[in-house]
Parts: sequence; structure tokens; C-alpha cells
Amino acid sequence: MSAPAARAAELRAQIDEANRNYHVLDAPTISDETYDAALRELRDLEDAHPDLATPESPTQRVGGAPSSDFSPYPHGVPMLSLSNVFDESDLRAFDARVAKLAGEPATYVCELKIDGLAMSLRYEGGVLRSAGTRGDGTTGEDVTGNVRTVRDVPRTLRGAPQTIDVRGEIYLRKSAFAALNASRTAAGLPSFANPRNTAAGGLRQKDPRLTAERKLSFFAYAIGAFAGAEPPATQVELLAALRAYGVPVNEHATACATIDDVLAFCRRWEDERATLDYEIDGVVIKVDSLALQAKLGYAGKDPRWATAFKFRAQEARTKLLDIGINVSRSGKLNPYAILDPVGIGGVTVKMATLHNADDIARKDIRPGDTVIVHRAGDVIPYVVGPVLELRPKKTAPYAMPLACPVCGSPVERPEGDVFSYCTNVACPAQVTERIRHWCTRGAMDIEGVGDALSAALVEAGLCANVADLYDLDAEKLATLPRMGDRTVSNVLGELERSKTRGLARVLAALGIRYVGGQNAALLAGEFGTIDELAVASRERLAETDGIGPQIAESVAFFFARESNRDVVRRLAERGLDLTAPLHPKEPVGVLAGKTFVITGTLPSLSREEATALIVDAGGKVSGSVSKKTSYVVAGEEAGSKLAKAQTLGIEIVDEAGLRALL
Ligand SMILES: [Zn+2]
Repeated sequence: MSAPAARAAELRAQIDEANRNYHVLDAPTISDETYDAALRELRDLEDAHPDLATPESPTQRVGGAPSSDFSPYPHGVPMLSLSNVFDESDLRAFDARVAKLAGEPATYVCELKIDGLAMSLRYEGGVLRSAGTRGDGTTGEDVTGNVRTVRDVPRTLRGAPQTIDVRGEIYLRKSAFAALNASRTAAGLPSFANPRNTAAGGLRQKDPRLTAERKLSFFAYAIGAFAGAEPPATQVELLAALRAYGVPVNEHATACATIDDVLAFCRRWEDERATLDYEIDGVVIKVDSLALQAKLGYAGKDPRWATAFKFRAQEARTKLLDIGINVSRSGKLNPYAILDPVGIGGVTVKMATLHNADDIARKDIRPGDTVIVHRAGDVIPYVVGPVLELRPKKTAPYAMPLACPVCGSPVERPEGDVFSYCTNVACPAQVTERIRHWCTRGAMDIEGVGDALSAALVEAGLCANVADLYDLDAEKLATLPRMGDRTVSNVLGELERSKTRGLARVLAALGIRYVGGQNAALLAGEFGTIDELAVASRERLAETDGIGPQIAESVAFFFARESNRDVVRRLAERGLDLTAPLHPKEPVGVLAGKTFVITGTLPSLSREEATALIVDAGGKVSGSVSKKTSYVVAGEEAGSKLAKAQTLGIEIVDEAGLRALL
């Protein structure tokens, strides 16, 4: 066998196997991107060597073979597959081909490509008669009983033609998926991996009541058979007609006059996909005119008048080299993945979070595994799970260390907690993190003391707690690496300036659990001095407006510890201002009387930093949007809070807008 033939055979085997796992067993074994890449390579091979193309090749088929559990569901009008485009030049080439064949520039309709299961619904005389999956495009599976449980699928249509196949996507909303997993976890059942496969599994239940429990949804976007009325002339009319019949149609479908508009639509939704309550993996672009669609026809099974713009990969496979452990300032052991570097969406990913020990155990992630890594927007990359069939021999399930990897002290895992903690409060890792936190913007705002210097100070034995920072002098600092005269005097100047930040900042900087900028400001305003606060009972603390029992407990716990009281005493001795104006009835500052809600990720400010800026200017920060909210500060991947603000007509600003207000 020639090399291309061998490679083609290898790719076909890989794709067939993946198809079977994905469509028939509802258990994907490779990421969508890997699958697309394999299919694309095979297509290119077959284009270059036409003798290799066979009717059985997976490039000629849409999905997998129907499972034998359900009756076959023949499609009178075949259900389509779509060619894919991956970038701007592919998209422009598609447009150029359409224009050439049509003899003039075409106009398009863009629709979000919902990540669900294609479904064909047959209505006769306006009544739902049957429903079938896409299957191989010609024959699917009859899942009528299960589809009848989907609320979005109307039993009857208003004003529909005598016979119509309504086609669209069955999917699971992210919110419904989260609720489903929460109830499964509560019932001691394993959680589902992702919305798409949960929807697929739901449709394939033998008992429709089990389908109903998954609370599936539906969007329509096409028609198959259509008889007994004048058919629509354009895709825009088609969608409007479906809506008029009472079928849900995605609200974001948009007519685009030019390919530039199409591209802008694709780019916009690639950036904003996380704001939706359902998963999308691209944009479907269709020629608007149905007459022109008919004229353009098909190339094999793919229509020439439509294509799918696939978003950049959010997942990739790579080797999990090892599992590392970070120790936080509270002593929490955070496991993370050390990866063979892999490019995802234009960024090289070397590390990813593993959440916690339970998550590692549930997914059975082992060092040495090939794993699927997910990275989307500003979300921290995480390991989706291992690719089991690529697991090397002689691996063992991962166990969290029983001793702190930094100081060797015993590790404790409190009852009901998913995390383990280093029990040594003097653990260098914890101390380093506490010092780094003390110096961050939003806390004491000490420029020049970051990760490296915090670690060096602890390692050299110069700092065992934050009070030691104020015992530093030029002589001590000069013993550390990379500390020239200018740097030394800058750091000392910054430390001196930080003494006047006041009680609210000090409380936020101490790193008391649950006490960030907002709660620190509330406590400072209520108690006025750190001495008053330190002796307050849990009950007294909880009487503070906005401070609940959990925060009160945490504050009381902090000040009950001798070592913490000692640090506070020494801070006072070094001249730090540990007071605040009592009960500031009339808040001062440009934002006095204004309430803010922060949502999403801001370009350069963390949530704590933004809160500190607002509180410093006399404003308040709240966790939820209401009519009393003055402004919503929205960053990337802002979600439901942004939507609520829009509904209530509340002014929305970005980070630049916030800075302008300040
Ligand atoms: Zn430790």
C-alpha cells in the first residue's frame, strides 16, 4: 500500500471509531477539534489522490450508523451535512465560489451553530406525528416518544402547511445541565460530562420519562418536506414562518448583505459565545435566496450554498507530564496539571487546573495520561479528562500527598471539604502567599513586592509574617538577589507610604477568609479601630449591616489566634494607621451614594482591585443587580447580571468607564 493510502486507511479507522463512539454510544473519545482535523486531512488526501476516495469513506457520510435499539426513520428529503471553514480566507473563498456560480454577489443569513443533535419533526395537518434523528442523513432513528417530552417542541402548529418537516437542533441549556448535575451529585450519582452528550443520551432513553428529566430544548432552522402551501422564498422568510407556526427559532439569526458582515458576525460570537446559555461551536452561513440555493446545488453531500464557520479550537490533547501542588495562603493544596506544551486557540498552554482531589479521582486523571485540555476566553485552562485508550501501562490512580510538598508538615482534610490543607501556619509557601497578598493593589498597594520578592524575603528568613515587612531596612534588602540601591529605596518608600492606607485596606490585606474589599470596608466603618474589632463577639460582628454569620465566624476565628493578634500589635507599633472614620453617615468621595455591581473579567483590574477603587471613592459594591444598582461594571464574559442590567435599564460601563467616573 502506498503511503497516502496507508494514511487514508488509518484516518478512516480513527474517524469511524470516533463516529461510533460519538453517535452510537454517546461517549466521545476524541475532542471535536481532533476529529475535524482528521476529517480535513482525509478530505485533502482524497482530493489529492482521487483514486483513494470511496463511497464508504467517512468523508461521504454524515454521522454514524443508526443504533438497532430504535426503529429506522427514513428521511424523504435527506438531512444535510455542511462543509467547514476555519478562517477568514476560507470564508472569502466560499463567498467567491458562490458569487462565481451565481453570477452575482449573494446575500447571506448567519445562524449560531448550536452544539446539539439535529432532529427532523414531521407535522401532518399541523399535528406532530413523528420525530427522527439525523443518523446518516438518509435514515435516522425514530425517537418520537422521547421528543414528545421536549417542551420546546410544539405538539401542534398554527397555520402550517398540510405536510412539513421542521428541522433543527435538540440541545441542553447550560443552566439546565448545571441543575441536572447538582441534583445528581446530591443523589450520589456521577455527574454528566457535557451538555451535548447529556442531550444525546437523553434522547436515546428507552423510557421517555427519563428523557423528560433532562429538560431538553429545541431550535428550528430548516425545513425538509413541505407540501400544501406556498414555500418561503428566502431563509429569512423561512425562519419567520417557523416562528409564526409557533416553533422556537434562535433570536440571533441575522441577515448579512456582504461577506464582511458575515465575518463580523462570526468574530462577534466567537468572542461572546460564553455569554449564551447554550453551547455553540460555530456559525452556519446560508445563501438567503432559496431559488439561488437550488441553483447552486450540492458537491457530494455538502450544499454549495451553505457552510459552517468553525470557531477556533477550545480543546486539544496533550500529555499530562505530572501533577503539581500549589499551597495557598490559607494552606490549601491546589493540584495543577503540568502539561507537554500545546497550542489552544493561539496560546501555548503548559499548565491547567485540576480543581481538587475529588475531581481528579472522579475523572481518574493520572500522570502519564494523554488528556483533553479545555481553554475558553479568560477561563483558566482545565483538564476535561483522560483519553483512556491512550493510557500507558503501569499507571496508578493519583493520590494527594499526605504531607505538605513545601514544608513537609502533615496535611488535613476537614470533613466535607474537597481540599486538603497544610497544618503549619508558618509554612513558607503560606507565608509567601500572605505577603504577596498584603502587597497587591486593592490591599496595601505596595508596588515592587510581587511573587519573586515575597518568596525571596521568606527564603532569606527576613519575613515570617506581614509585620516583618516594616522591620526591613536598606541593609537587609541589599542582601537579596537583584536588589540595587534604586530598587531598595523604592520598596522602602512604598512600605512607608502604605502605613497610611487605613483600617479598611489593612483588613482586606490581612487575608481573613471572606473579608475582601467590600466586607473590610463595612467592618472598618462599623468598628472604627482594629482593637474594637478584635474583641467583638461573633454576635456583635454579625449585627453589622451586610456581615452574615459565616463572615462573623471567620473574623472572630482570625482574632482568636494569638499569632494573628501579635502581628496586629506589631503593625500598630510600626506606625500603621489601624483606624477608620466611624459610621460614615455621609460617605465622602465622587461615588458617594452610588451602588455598583461588577460582572465578568475586566481587562486590567481584578474584582478586588475594582472594589477597592469604588469603596475608596465612597461607592458601594453589591453582588446582585436590582433597581437600586447605579452602575454595572461589565468585563469580558459577563453573564446573566449584564442581561438583567439591560432589562432594568441600568447604566453599563466598562473598565474605562469606571475609571472615568473615578
Ligand atoms: Zn506547608
